[in-house]
Amino acid sequence: MADTFKNFIGGEWVEPSTGQYFENRNPARQSDLIGMWPRSGKEDVDRAAKAAKAAFDGWRLTPAPERGAILKTVGDLLVERKDDIARAATREMGKVWAETKGDVQEGIDTAYYAATYGRQLFGRTVPSELRSKWAMSVRRPIGVAGLITPFNFPLAIPTWKMFPALLCGNSVVIKPGEDVPHTVSLLVEILEEAGIPKGVVNLVHGYGAEVGEHIVRHPDIPVISFTGSTETGKTIGRTCGEMHKRLSLEMGGKNAQIVMADADMDLALNGVLWGAFGTTGQRCTATSRLLLQDEIHDEFVERLSEGARKLKLGYGNDDGVEVGPLINARALEKVQKYVEIGKQEGTCVLGGERATGDGLDDGFFFQPTIFTDIQAGSRMATEEIFGPVLSVIRFKDADEAFRINNEVKYGLSSSLYTRDVNLSFRAFQDLDNGITYVNAPTIGAEAHLPFGGVKQTGNGHREGGWEVYEFYSETKVCYVDYSGKLQRAQIDNYEASPY
Ligand code: NAD
Repeated sequence: MADTFKNFIGGEWVEPSTGQYFENRNPARQSDLIGMWPRSGKEDVDRAAKAAKAAFDGWRLTPAPERGAILKTVGDLLVERKDDIARAATREMGKVWAETKGDVQEGIDTAYYAATYGRQLFGRTVPSELRSKWAMSVRRPIGVAGLITPFNFPLAIPTWKMFPALLCGNSVVIKPGEDVPHTVSLLVEILEEAGIPKGVVNLVHGYGAEVGEHIVRHPDIPVISFTGSTETGKTIGRTCGEMHKRLSLEMGGKNAQIVMADADMDLALNGVLWGAFGTTGQRCTATSRLLLQDEIHDEFVERLSEGARKLKLGYGNDDGVEVGPLINARALEKVQKYVEIGKQEGTCVLGGERATGDGLDDGFFFQPTIFTDIQAGSRMATEEIFGPVLSVIRFKDADEAFRINNEVKYGLSSSLYTRDVNLSFRAFQDLDNGITYVNAPTIGAEAHLPFGGVKQTGNGHREGGWEVYEFYSETKVCYVDYSGKLQRAQIDNYEASPY
C-alpha cells in the first residue's frame, strides 16, 4: 500500500477537499510507486489563500532579521538532510544523485543568502531639495505570493522563490510540479520544524489546470512567480495582466555553446557533454545547440559522439549512472517527435531511439542524440526540445555564430569557448542572453547571482542574488518635514511663497 501525503494549510497537514489523489511514480522504474499526493481543487486554494492572508500581518511585522533567522535554521536542516532529500528527489525526478545533491545545495545556498539578507533589505536615504526635510525609501512586503514551480529542479526552484518571498515578509502558497511533489513536501516539513508561523507557508498539491490556474486567478494573491514552459507562462501572463498582478516568469531556453577553432578542445568537449546530456537535457539552461567553427567541425563531432556514446544511463540512485530518464511519457513522446523532425532537417549521427535493455525498459530513457547538418532558423535550431538531443550547426566566423545564437525567440544562457579575450568581451556585449559563460558550459548558475533570461525566456525579472528581493517587495518612499511650516516641492525653492 503506497503512502498517502497531504497538503499543508494554515500550519496543519490536511487532506484535499476533493478526496482525490494522484500517483507519483519513479520515471526510471515505473513499477515503483512512490506515493499518492492530493489532487486538490479550487476550495483547497481558497483555504490556503485565506490562511496566508490571515498570517500576513503577523509575518510582515516580524523583523526581517528574525525572519532570516528562521531561514538560517531551514538551511541548517537542509544540510543535515541533504543526502536523504537528494535520494527522494532522484527517485521522483530521475536525475542522478550527484545532481540532486547539487539541487539541494542550491537550496542551502539560497537559505543562507536569504538569512543574511534579513539584515540588508536596504532602502535609500537621499537629501531633500528642501530645508529641514528628510527623504528616504524603504522596502515593504506585498502580501500573499503564489509560487508555481516545474519538475526539473524539485528543491532549488521552490527555494529560489519561497525564501526571498518569505524574507521580504510575504506569506506564500506554493504548488510544485505534479511529477515531483515529494521533495517540496520534505521542504515544507523542514520549514515547519524551523518554526515558520502557522499560515505563512501553504502547500497545495495538484495539477496546473486545477490548482495552478486558481492560484493565478485568486484575488487575494497579488504576486505570482512562475517557472515552467513558455506556453504556460503566456497564459499566466495574460491573466496577471488583466488582474494587475505582479508577475515573474522564468520560461524556456534554446541555449547555444559556441566553439571557436582556437578553443581548448578537451575543455569544450567536456563542457558540451555536461551541458547537453546532464539532467538528460532537461534544464532550462541545457545546451541544445552546438555551434562549431568550420575548421574543427568534423573532428569535434566525432569525439563528441564517442564521449556521448559512453555515457551510462540508468536509475540515478545507482552508482556509476551518469544520465537518468526523461520525466514522463509526454516528455518521451515530445523528444521522439523532435527526432523525427531532426531526421527531416539534418543527419542523426548518434542515438535517436528510446534506450532499452539492461534495466532501462521500465523507465523513460532516451539515448543521447546528436544531429548534424542543422540549418540556423530550422525547427531543430530554434524550438525547445527539453531532452538529450543536441543540434550541431556550422559557422564560418564569430559574426555568424553570434547572429545564429541570437536568432531564436529565447534568451536564457549562452557559452563561448575561445582563447581570444577580445572576443569574450564582445560576447558579453552582443549575445542576447541573460547569462553568458566563457570557457564553461551553458549550465552552472550560482545562487547568489541574478538568474533569468531575455526575450521570451522571461519578463524582465530575475531570480537569485540581490535582484529577486526587489520583486518580492515594493518600494515605499517616506518624507518627514521637520521645518514646522508648509514647504512646497518644486515651487518654494524657485519662487517666493504666496502663503
Ligand atoms: P510546465 O509549464 O508544464 O509546468 C510548470 C508548472 O506550471 C507546473 O507546476 C504545472 O502544474 C503548472 N501549470 C501548468 N499549467 C498551468 C496553468 N494553466 N496555470 C497555472 N499553472 C500551470 O513546465 P515543466 O514541464 O514542469 O517544466 C519545463 C519547462 O520549464 C521548460 O520549458 C523549461 O525551460 C522551463 N524552466 C525554466 C527555467 C528558468 O528559470 N527559465 C527553469 C526551469 C525550467
